[in-house]
Amino acid sequence: MNYAFPPAPVVTLDAMSSEPFPVRRIFCVGRNYPDHAREMGADPERDEPFFFMKPPGAILQNNSILPYPTHTENLQPEVELVVALHKGGKNIPVDKVDYDYVFGYAVGLDMTRRDLQQAAKEKGQPWDMAKAFDHSAPCTAITPEFYSGAISRGKIELKVNGEIRQSGDVGDMILKIPQMVNTLSNLVELFPGDLIFTGTPAGIAPVVKGDVIEATVAGLEPLIITIG
Ligand code: MN
Repeated sequence: MNYAFPPAPVVTLDAMSSEPFPVRRIFCVGRNYPDHAREMGADPERDEPFFFMKPPGAILQNNSILPYPTHTENLQPEVELVVALHKGGKNIPVDKVDYDYVFGYAVGLDMTRRDLQQAAKEKGQPWDMAKAFDHSAPCTAITPEFYSGAISRGKIELKVNGEIRQSGDVGDMILKIPQMVNTLSNLVELFPGDLIFTGTPAGIAPVVKGDVIEATVAGLEPLIITIG
């Protein structure tokens, strides 16, 4: 097939001994840890988790430099467990998600222009320019589920220049992975290659040029990103 210009290359993530994982879409869950929901001024009893998206081109590979983005003076990283799907569908049953639909797991950063997000919230505008900008989705290689097993708990942490900022347990997620995939697949049809950034625990704060971010989830490869 000829095109008017060469189509964009497929974005991939390494996946240990498996072939590279082609990324189709990136879904993100907002307000999925009670302590983070509270620090954002929400009530986790009343305000349910919700979904937003980033484009696949926002992926930044591990051990990279993230250029400090334009139009912000408050860039904040959010450490997140990332779920990678290798099977799609609509109305995916909760009890089939692990092993049948989940390919594996990674560690990601939901990079946020917090000042733009705050302004968008106040004006009732969409979050895209706050959340879905270039390089806003740093992510490690994927650990296939046959190595890690299904992940439902474990320490999740973010360090900046060696100092702990965020520390939680993925078991504290409000919407657990099986329910999350089920809910999302009721909203839109899911496809192989879809990633879900599953939300962040409390402790968000800005980073500046030169900062080294280390994001970890127990059992997975750490994510190291330098702000440039
Ligand atoms: Mn997030």
